Amino acid sequence: MSPEFTRLRKVLADFVEKEPEIIEKLKKRARSLGLWNLFLPKQYTKSGAQLTTYEYGMLSEIMGRSILGPVATNCAAPDTGNMEVLLHYGTEEQKNKWLYPLLDSKIRSAFAMTEPAVASSDATNINTHIRKVGNEWVINGEKWWISNAGHPDCKVFFVLGVTSPDHPDIHRRHSVVIVPAGTPGFTIGRPMTIYGYDDAPHGHCEVSFKDVRVPLENIILGEGRGFEVIQGRLGPGKLKHTK
Ligand SMILES: Cc1cc2nc3c(=O)[nH]c(=O)nc-3n(C[C@H](O)[C@H](O)[C@H](O)COP(=O)(O)OP(=O)(O)OC[C@H]3O[C@@H](n4cnc5c(N)ncnc54)[C@H](O)[C@@H]3O)c2cc1C
Repeated sequence: MSPEFTRLRKVLADFVEKEPEIIEKLKKRARSLGLWNLFLPKQYTKSGAQLTTYEYGMLSEIMGRSILGPVATNCAAPDTGNMEVLLHYGTEEQKNKWLYPLLDSKIRSAFAMTEPAVASSDATNINTHIRKVGNEWVINGEKWWISNAGHPDCKVFFVLGVTSPDHPDIHRRHSVVIVPAGTPGFTIGRPMTIYGYDDAPHGHCEVSFKDVRVPLENIILGEGRGFEVIQGRLGPGKLKHTK
């Protein structure tokens, strides 16, 4: 490559990476206009809005016109669905640790359900193993298409896996556990591509769990309640999805 190319590439990369500065300015402006956490009813947060899902859907159409709109208003997937999970099913400790920073847009989050080895549109197929060992959950498995996984601010992953593979009720076999970013054994791989776009560096990435250990209190709602949690998340989430 020529020296001119190398120089231009560096200048361009720095320019493009300035986006976070703009985003922080836009977040302040959106907040001052009351355009913050609009996906949540006001009774749950100091921000939010008293909207029906239908009304919120029409606002999502406007936010979705700009790639910056949903992030600037803290209404971007997958954080919105993850905030709803914590709000409805999280313990006080889980809310303090993860929900309030998310509502404030201090961190981002990811939801890890889909797996390369199974037809993941049916969540009962999900096969990542989550085993109780002593006072910890030990997680092993592979996921892909995990939005936000490569985002530098993504600090927490909500992971669906099998805790009771032999439970007679197929809808009581799975659980959702919270995995903080950087937990040993947890690695983030390549971003997947859609029509040639990889959405890098935030991605929709491959992620892998190899003997990843988290404390028992990181479970959401309880053992075997994963299907219930994700249905509660994805039902309204699919209607509200803005990115
Ligand atoms: C941009 C993007 C972002 C995403 N972000 C996330 C994310 O953050 N977290 C996450 O967990 N996932 C994410 N996904 C993954 C997405 O949710 C899954 O792709 C989706 O749930 C479908 O699962 P699958 O890819 O395994 O397809 P499959 O389940 O294999 O389905 C493929 C096709 O087969 C059909 N099919 C499946 N089973 C049957 C059957 N038994 N009989 C007949 N037809 C069947 C389906 O209807 C579909 O048409 C993302 C995907 C994209 C494209």
